[in-house]
Amino acid sequence: MQALPSYNPKTEAKKGIWDRIRISVRAERVLEERSPEATQLFEKVVIERGGSESDKKRLSELWTELSFGVLELPNEEVFDIKRVAVDVPAYARIFESVKCSVCGEDVMEPRVRMKDGKPVCIPCASQEYYQLAGDGISIKQEDFDEKKNA
Ligand SMILES: [Zn+2]
Repeated sequence: MQALPSYNPKTEAKKGIWDRIRISVRAERVLEERSPEATQLFEKVVIERGGSESDKKRLSELWTELSFGVLELPNEEVFDIKRVAVDVPAYARIFESVKCSVCGEDVMEPRVRMKDGKPVCIPCASQEYYQLAGDGISIKQEDFDEKKNA
């Protein structure tokens, strides 16, 4: 594998270079073409969380071989490298912080809710909020008063 140029997104965006190249890994393609056995074992051991101890040991061996093998491949086989046009997003706005009157946490001003005439954070207001976790974005709602009394 040839060394890919390292880049600093901010600097490259200022130079007008960052919006021209998209690099993505062809992971599935590289895996399936180079080791159908590893592909099948990956499905069995990792995705289905099954397989025997010897399956797991064999997958580990194949994975190591594949990892070192990929380093010898030309960039074009490992990556999709495309020229694209992307608008560079503006810097995020900076908002004032307000102290939650219940828990004392600093809250970004647009996120503040009013409860009994006092500023509170979203969880202390017992309002729904979005949470990003390993399985995606979900809507959460906590009632801190219930937790305190539990
Ligand atoms: Zn709070």
